[in-house]
Amino acid sequence: MTAELMRGGPISKRIREHIRERVEVLQAKYGRGPGLAIVRAGDDPASVWYANTLSKAAEKVGITPRVVVLPADVSQATFEEIVRSLNQDADVHGIILQEPYPSHIDGERLVSLLDPNKDVDGVHPLNAGYHFLGTPRFIPATPLGGLLLLEAYDVPLRGAEAVVVGRSNIVGKPMALLLLNRHATVTVCHSRTRDLAAVTRRADILCVAVGRPGLITGEMLKPGAVVVDFGTNPVGDNLVGDVDFATAVEVAAKITPVPGGTGPVTTAVLLRNVLNAFERFLGEPLTLDG
Ligand code: NDP
Repeated sequence: MTAELMRGGPISKRIREHIRERVEVLQAKYGRGPGLAIVRAGDDPASVWYANTLSKAAEKVGITPRVVVLPADVSQATFEEIVRSLNQDADVHGIILQEPYPSHIDGERLVSLLDPNKDVDGVHPLNAGYHFLGTPRFIPATPLGGLLLLEAYDVPLRGAEAVVVGRSNIVGKPMALLLLNRHATVTVCHSRTRDLAAVTRRADILCVAVGRPGLITGEMLKPGAVVVDFGTNPVGDNLVGDVDFATAVEVAAKITPVPGGTGPVTTAVLLRNVLNAFERFLGEPLTLDG
């Protein structure tokens, strides 16, 4: 068997086109467009790259980006003041606090200060709670993008045996909740899981967000499984997933490539969350919800 590739490009393009058109309509009606603030501290290369990429992607769909760069030795008090002022800023409808934070910074405290209505990353405890309760407002973009991929490629979720490897607050846990809320039977694995392969082999749908290149091999899959690989690991000049693609593609029915799978959808969904925040701010119906 050679698996069908679940590519993120077409879905990402559809979402971006929708946002661009909708922003034009809202701009004409209200004379204003959405704004996104991206706050980063220090010069972590991945963080710099992501802020620039996101900023360019935002501009292309009519969202005005504002990248706030803080020095690596920024004080907690100054960082908090920045968050408070962005909360108050009527031109900013979404705020992203980019990790990693400098080691002396209390990131949890910063996140708790965010205006939940501008928390387009879905990391504020209130938004995590709403998601937990099955009435989500903002869902982290990466797992929501994974779900949209599954839906776009007609993967049945109801009653499916789903396994999520990784339990971070930003990918693994919300992915598990998304699947559970769509009536899959969900198992979550992590670094203390006793026999990982025995669990992954049960999965009709396997979602992997670990950060270890090639952790999941073809022999750890059930034949015909659907595999969503969130891993983005730089190896030499390449980006590879957490799934060993060469062996997995022979066993799975569908699989996301890395790059070109979950990555492009993540950015589009994040922009979609900004559009939702702007629509809520204006009292308009949400056009890309659910
Ligand atoms: P974290 O480091 O926060 O979490 C990793 C998880 O993997 C933890 O729950 C950890 O378990 C678990 N884990 C570690 N080793 C093993 C193992 N040997 N077996 C089973 N589980 C293990 O990572 P993130 O969730 O932030 O990111 C995961 C991956 O997804 C990374 O490659 C990251 O780059 C990528 N990513 C991709 C995005 C995209 O757009 N595609 C966006 C965000 C992240 P424990 O909890 O026990 O420590």
